[in-house]
Amino acid sequence: MGYVKPVAVLAVTLSVGLGAAGAECPADPVRVRIAHVEENRFDIAVSAPGSQGAIDISWREAPGTQDGQADFLSDMVFERSDGVVVAADYAGYGTWQLPGDSEARWDGYRYTLTADHDRAEWNIGKEEIAYRFDDGFYFVLQSVLAVSYGWGDCQFDVRMIMPEGWQAVTPWAEVDANAFAVSGLNSLIRNLVVLGPDLEPQTVTLDGLDVVIISESVFDEARPAFAEVLRRSLAAYTGIFGGVPMERYLVAFGEDDMNDGGAFAESFGQRLPAPFREHERLMWARSLAHESLHAWIGIAISRQPDAELQWFTEGGTDYLTMKTLYRTELVEADDVIFMIEGQIRRFLLGRIQSGPVSLAEAGENKQENRTLVYGGGALFHLLLDARMTELHGAGSYEAALRSLYEADDRRYSQARMLAALDARSDGAASEILAMLNGPFDPFGLLAEIDTAGLATAAFGPDEILVRFAAQGCAGSRDAACMPDFLSR
Ligand SMILES: [Zn+2]
Repeated sequence: MGYVKPVAVLAVTLSVGLGAAGAECPADPVRVRIAHVEENRFDIAVSAPGSQGAIDISWREAPGTQDGQADFLSDMVFERSDGVVVAADYAGYGTWQLPGDSEARWDGYRYTLTADHDRAEWNIGKEEIAYRFDDGFYFVLQSVLAVSYGWGDCQFDVRMIMPEGWQAVTPWAEVDANAFAVSGLNSLIRNLVVLGPDLEPQTVTLDGLDVVIISESVFDEARPAFAEVLRRSLAAYTGIFGGVPMERYLVAFGEDDMNDGGAFAESFGQRLPAPFREHERLMWARSLAHESLHAWIGIAISRQPDAELQWFTEGGTDYLTMKTLYRTELVEADDVIFMIEGQIRRFLLGRIQSGPVSLAEAGENKQENRTLVYGGGALFHLLLDARMTELHGAGSYEAALRSLYEADDRRYSQARMLAALDARSDGAASEILAMLNGPFDPFGLLAEIDTAGLATAAFGPDEILVRFAAQGCAGSRDAACMPDFLSR
């Protein structure tokens, strides 16, 4: 289940930051035209004279489709360098190529996009793919825009041709009406855009960062609450990391039956139930603060190879989100207890469900091993924070995260990540990971968590009770009993 084209994902990761600008670019800029034709149909045309090789979209299988995201692309043709237009050969898994000689050059291609993605079930969430956004369209470009993965460092000139009254909301620099200059393939395809009428984006200006908020109309009244969570959490993250990884950040809110989100290069899509209920803040704010933290952990601090550190970036994001929501007074001490209980339960049930795999191996299939990846990663960060605070004082865990962010090469393997953290934690990082990957020992784990100033109890691995037990307290829900590393 959940087959994903791995080569494509890898190629995009690898292509970023390699080679001199323009070295692999056939055209400067590569021209991309996205034109709305009628109803849910778009014509997409790309001009890149002198190119060769295949073009790709991100592809994953999905119930309700024959062929994943490729179902929605049709009539793909290439323009050969001799001017002749030929139908593309489809190679499967969202890959098209010029028929015949694989070395032959082409000048461009075009195809029809039928934006009917809501008929499929996307197990990672529609906000990772595409959906109807009120009367408009939400697209994550990598799912709908076919490109050559060799264009990593190219410049792109993207123009949207749309009906009167429509608007294109993107994270890119707008150079003209609905015309955008985009640097690098990552920014082009690993982002969301929304096209349509009546979008009314709002901009929240933070120190060095413009956050553009857009929502389906059902969430119009919730926008001030969303903006407040973004304002506080992004300000906290900027303080921890000492800067922002981008100048403009686009956040889109769409309706679905649960809280979740997808984070991209300079944007993220959040989905949540409607009508909006402020009192469910623990859920929607957590999701919102988690996805926005990915701009630093997961996007800027990235994984190479991708699967090996899913546990670190997802779990670290969950952990620091929890701590930040509490410290910025968006949630209460009781909510912290609830979240720690949840992380312990996720890890223990994840170990049972996923069997004898390490956290790194579990990342090979993140969706199926979700509870283990998120729970194990979050406990790693909690225990590391506790140990570092004890060793080197408050803020030393955050300083370590900042050093990862400030490094020249921010793509980490597990070995390089552990070496960096071990150097700042007297080897605690490797010890904690070895414990989490070691023999299944729920009570050993709970005893370890208790050394961090918590009091845990379990009724089997599925029922966990957590209290604060620092500052001389035996076990209490009172914030005064919180261990130092968590407290405000
Ligand atoms: Zn995440």
